[in-house]
Amino acid sequence: MADVYIGLGSNLGDRIAHLAAARDALAAQAGPLLAQSSLYDTDPWGPVPQDNYLNQVVSVASELPPRELLARLHKIERAEGRDRAHEVRYGPRSLDLDILLYADRVVDEDGLTIPHPRIGERAFVLVPLAEIAPDIMINGTPVTTLVRRIDTAGVRRYQSG
Ligand code: ADP
Ligand code: MG
Repeated sequence: MADVYIGLGSNLGDRIAHLAAARDALAAQAGPLLAQSSLYDTDPWGPVPQDNYLNQVVSVASELPPRELLARLHKIERAEGRDRAHEVRYGPRSLDLDILLYADRVVDEDGLTIPHPRIGERAFVLVPLAEIAPDIMINGTPVTTLVRRIDTAGVRRYQSG
């Protein structure tokens, strides 16, 4: 059993519904949810102009090895309409699920790096992660230190209704 932190993101279609469906699918297929952050409305990151994302981080108690967990995440993305074969890299997506941390495991394989390789530069991951796991370390650095080093202006707590 491992404590796994998963990043959720959506900027296509009904973002709230995609994230809700993802949480349900994670609980059913990856393991019970231990914690979930608030939702955050975030400026898009990267080279492709696109709509804002809704982001969240959850933790799951999973029995699945990292590779199987990643395959399960891709299946859940597909169920929410994501088609990796026909999408623009770093472009809009109905659902993105990333393994951020898998207990204290370090994985560096083709197609799977844990901790997630771009975690330290992404405020939309660090802010919700620090909300639910303020004491957690990423590659030896406290998440709160990483949050202080980056610009978090584009990450706003989402108020529904
Ligand atoms: P990103 O999530 O960085 O915006 P994508 O969702 O398009 O980009 O993922 C690109 C690739 O990243 C995937 O094909 C996946 O194999 C790889 N990858 C490497 N490490 C991880 C990880 N820890 N969690 C999720 N995907 C990962
Ligand atoms: Mg991804």
